[in-house]
This record gives sequence, C-alpha cells and structure tokens, in this order.
Amino acid sequence: MPELFETPKPVEARSPGAQRAHLKQRLAAAFRLFARYGFDEGVAGHITARDPEQPEHFWVNPFGMYFGHIRASDLILVNAQGEVVKGRAKVNRAAFAIHSRVHAARPDVVAAAHSHSMYGRTWSALGRRLDPLTQDACAFYEDHGLFDDYTGVVLETSEGDRVARALGASKAVILRNHGLLTVGQTVDAAAFWFISMDRCCHSQLMAEAAGKPIPIDPEHARKTHGQIGSEEGGWFSFQPLYERIVREEPDLLE
Ligand SMILES: [Zn+2]
Repeated sequence: MPELFETPKPVEARSPGAQRAHLKQRLAAAFRLFARYGFDEGVAGHITARDPEQPEHFWVNPFGMYFGHIRASDLILVNAQGEVVKGRAKVNRAAFAIHSRVHAARPDVVAAAHSHSMYGRTWSALGRRLDPLTQDACAFYEDHGLFDDYTGVVLETSEGDRVARALGASKAVILRNHGLLTVGQTVDAAAFWFISMDRCCHSQLMAEAAGKPIPIDPEHARKTHGQIGSEEGGWFSFQPLYERIVREEPDLLE
C-alpha cells in the first residue's frame, strides 16, 4: 500500500533527561489543548506519560488543577504503588487505578488519555462501538474496545485491569456511561486520537439524529484504517496542534 503521508518520525531525544523534558512539554501541551476543546469537567480527566528511565512510573496532571493552566513543571511523577514521588500535589485515585493498569498491560503504550468530554461521554451511554461513517472514523475501525460494565468511580486497580482487558491491543476504549480512553506510543498520538475520537462521536451522534447514515463498507474501512490509523499518523496529526498551542501559550513549556 503506498504511503499516504511522508511522515517525519518522532524526535528521539539523546539523554533520558532530554527525553523526559520533551515528554513533559508534550504532556503539558496536550492538557492545554484538552482545555481548548472543552474536555475538562471539574477535576475529572487525566493524561499519563511513562517515564523514560523508570517504566513503572508515570507523569500525570496534579489533581484539582485546571488543564488550561498546566505547565511542564506542574506535572507530578507517580510510582507503581500510587505514591507521588515528584511534585507536591496529589494524584487523582481514579487516574492511578486506571492508568497504572493500562501501562502495565501494554508495555508499548507510553501515554494514555481520558476525560469526560461531552461527545465521548454522550456516545458512551449508547454502549456501542463507533461505526466507520467517515474517513476520520476509520482510524478507529476494528481498533477500539468497549468496557460495558459501569459500577461507579474507578478506584480499584482490579477495575483498571478490566478496563485494560477491554482495551486489548487497540488504540482506544469506550467506557460505557463514562467517556473515552485512548493510548499511544507517544503523548502526541494518544492526545490526537482522543481529540479525533471525541469528534467522531460528535459526528455519529449528529448523523444519527439527522437520519440514517450510510457506513463505509468493511473492505474500504479497513483500507482507510491502514492509511490514516497508524501510530505515525496519530503523531503527525498532532504536530500542527502542538505548534498552535505553543505559539499561543508559550508558558506551558516552563
Ligand atoms: Zn473518568
């Protein structure tokens, strides 16, 4: 299959320290973008990034801080026991319960994003996977799971394990009556898939409200998934968003 995009590869920083600085800046930018898209709902939502030197530790947002104010230096580091080992803020217990188990189940996953975005959570109430209604939605075709067992706020790692099982080897999972969770080998890809998936939920909700949408047939949905649904495709699609938010809010890099 011919390459749709000549995608430049993600920058490999040289030292672990430089890798960590890069990772934290991407993570802070992802939070600023989530705020711009209106994905915040009070204190709900978290994006995590695995530390380059300590793979069982992850960086995450300080519990209770507005996404739109987060700078790289505000991020906190959490260990495998759920203790904050860098930074003074607390960690959201649900963030630890879900993300620690997703990172443990998927060694390839560097970043995981979850929030209570309006269209993602509304779509989640239907208890269905997304259909390949548009080209963009094909990025998720046969590539997202459904966790259809809502039992309250996720506070136990055993429930995080069940979320990880529903995610399987895919890039995303719909948490019924709750919202979306996406993953990637970079912060960039995980954040882009979240943004795109929320918009695909919005699109399908509107299409079904307006009439009877015609899905793309499986053969072409699969082909389109191969063209736009790769890790590199997710990373590349995030680059203009990153450049926009850094230009508009350069303090996020601090
Ligand atoms: Zn949640």
